[in-house]
Amino acid sequence: MAVSRRRFLFTTAAASALAALGKSSETLAEAGGTGITWTKGVCRYCGTGCGVYKGVMGGKLVAVKGDKYNHNQGFLCLKGFLLAQVPNHPDRLKKPLVRKNGKLVETSWDEALSLVAKRFKDSVKKHGADSVAFYGSGQGYTEESYAGNKLFRAGFRTNNIEGNPRLCMASAVGGYVTSFGKDEPMGCYEDIDHADVFFLIGSNTAECHPIIFRRIAKRKETGGDVKVIVVDPRRTPTARIADLHLRFKPGTDLAILNAMAHVIVKEGMVDEKFIKESVGFGQGKAADKSWEDYKAFLETYTPEYAEKVSGCPKDDIIAAARIFGAKGKRTLSFWTMGLNQRTRGVWANNLCHNLHLITGKIGMPGSTPFSLTGQPNACGGVRDQGGLSHLLPYGRLSGKPEHRALMEKLWGLEPGTLPDRPGKHAVAMFQALESKDIKCIYIMCTNPGQSLPNVDRYRKAMKSKDTFVVVSDIFPTRTTELADVVLPAAAWGEKEGVYGCSERRYQLDSKVVEPVGEARPDFDILVDLAHRCGFGDLLPWKNPAEAWDEIRRIAKDTPYAFWGITRERLHKDHGVLWPCPTEGHPGTKRRYVRGEDPLVPADWPKRMMFYGKPDKKAVVWFRPQKDPQEVPDKEYPFYFTTGRVIEHWHTGTMTGRCKELAHARRDAEVEIHPDDAKKIGVRAGGMVKVTSRRGSVVFPANVTDTSPRGMVFVNMHDEKRMCNEITVDAYDPGSKQPEFKICAVKLEKA
Ligand code: SF4
Repeated sequence: MAVSRRRFLFTTAAASALAALGKSSETLAEAGGTGITWTKGVCRYCGTGCGVYKGVMGGKLVAVKGDKYNHNQGFLCLKGFLLAQVPNHPDRLKKPLVRKNGKLVETSWDEALSLVAKRFKDSVKKHGADSVAFYGSGQGYTEESYAGNKLFRAGFRTNNIEGNPRLCMASAVGGYVTSFGKDEPMGCYEDIDHADVFFLIGSNTAECHPIIFRRIAKRKETGGDVKVIVVDPRRTPTARIADLHLRFKPGTDLAILNAMAHVIVKEGMVDEKFIKESVGFGQGKAADKSWEDYKAFLETYTPEYAEKVSGCPKDDIIAAARIFGAKGKRTLSFWTMGLNQRTRGVWANNLCHNLHLITGKIGMPGSTPFSLTGQPNACGGVRDQGGLSHLLPYGRLSGKPEHRALMEKLWGLEPGTLPDRPGKHAVAMFQALESKDIKCIYIMCTNPGQSLPNVDRYRKAMKSKDTFVVVSDIFPTRTTELADVVLPAAAWGEKEGVYGCSERRYQLDSKVVEPVGEARPDFDILVDLAHRCGFGDLLPWKNPAEAWDEIRRIAKDTPYAFWGITRERLHKDHGVLWPCPTEGHPGTKRRYVRGEDPLVPADWPKRMMFYGKPDKKAVVWFRPQKDPQEVPDKEYPFYFTTGRVIEHWHTGTMTGRCKELAHARRDAEVEIHPDDAKKIGVRAGGMVKVTSRRGSVVFPANVTDTSPRGMVFVNMHDEKRMCNEITVDAYDPGSKQPEFKICAVKLEKA
């Protein structure tokens, strides 16, 4: 049955109207969906991982509605509702493109992939295995990322495997591993329904994770005396529901977190039994200190001292500590890029964990430290699957000989096949492209030509005629314009695969329509490329389901065990939380907890077991306040920060093509305090030139007191006015995550 344009618009409009009303979409079928076939899937955008149903009519994806049996209880934000427009957009890439005489021209798949195979193989032969690299994404399916990982590590034999989660989540990984021994949050979304206190730090949850925010707001409305603390220099929409909003100078929140711990300790809000049983104390590399040492470390961090450093009133810090630490109350912390995208991101994560560990508000319904994720599969597809240069699949490390040996056994490789040389993290990878140490790079499902910090520098490297850049994507982007080969990828709805969201929930996203033009799923493209390179035996699968069975086997007997999450179960269930070691296991809401986590022995004598640590204890780290890489000075007197807005997502390549979202907010603006606007003589809508040590961009002014005096904010979604021409590419020494959130700029009327 062909679908008329009118019918398509009607169905999309019905979805938008319901979303605008903030309604569950289960009534969509009645609102105009008769004749639509609905298939279960997962939202393509943020790491909340909302369950959806995809509506197909006449072979075309026409609508999306929320899955009321999934954690999002049928609700979606506007972006999710309007997803059906994305694969149908006329800008879709439909044929492979190869650069000839400086121009990208259409070609066949055979010519494009033969060229890619030849260039990569020749480079390895001539310049060694580390002259090639793979840059993946938290938006690819797990099977796709796994295929890329295996092809490059076991085939080309390089550890130059990275993914864009390095730019958004690496500090959370570093925080979880150093504090608890293993990556990934230990709690679940259901904890929101049990919490008495929400501590939202470095997270504009209302705009970046709207469905999680909806659940928090509902809990606040219905849960009795529920308190919300927001810690953010900006007065974001999230702060509107705050009982207490801590505002401070960017980069000084480490002092605030230590001062909160200071008050908690001084006022006896600690859980001494839990500390004695399950907490160790660290300084530097080893957990070799004591509770007394920690108390001595905190002595400096009086609320008065923190106020001096941060500008946040001491009474607010004391009040926050008292609400967080109140005996008998359950506290849930959420954070995301505000803590992670920092040169001290790992430390900031550790300090949040510390508050939960010293109060014992952890591993109980409503009490957990929870880092939210920006992309749909950063957790499942990259962090868990081992898609970062220092990792191997499921918690193993590329630098550990015994882990490489185990992976060689599991992959059926000769001993010594897997490289022992360290791979390059994201910024270093593009710096190596600049220095020509890396000559060929394969970029899958992401847009580093817009999303890297200090982006102009790396755009030049990608554009150079001495480098060979392959990009697979669904639309033309600021990265495809730099590529030598562009591969048209199948879009959401045109392929299937597994996503793992922030709460360790693995879900199957379904194929419901055929790809447009000659587009192909990234999984098929990588398998084809492997065969052309002579590595077909490494990627022998006929479809993603076969790869999933191998992935389950690789993860078996690790702390990530999900042998029980079979393909059949994924088709049937609305997501399962790992660990899930057997097919009959229901999944795990709370990790490390006796009686909940199957990896904790039933006879373990304590409430929690941090089995990733040698002594099974979590670590309270001593992390001092440290300034960010750049602070304002005479020449660059303003703080510059970046982030998201509710209408758009990532680099805006998809949401910018949804007409309602583009209409709602198209271009990036610079958010500037009225006093600062007055100082430079700019009115609302006037143009402001923002200049850092790396570049200048002119933005229209949004004059508002959302940002404090002395700080400006720009959203990251605009592909014309790119905020990353301004941001700094300094990174955290541990996680290697860049400091997108803070740099110094000057402002001029333009
Ligand atoms: S909250 Fe995130 S996952 Fe849920 S519908 Fe919105 S964009 Fe999609």
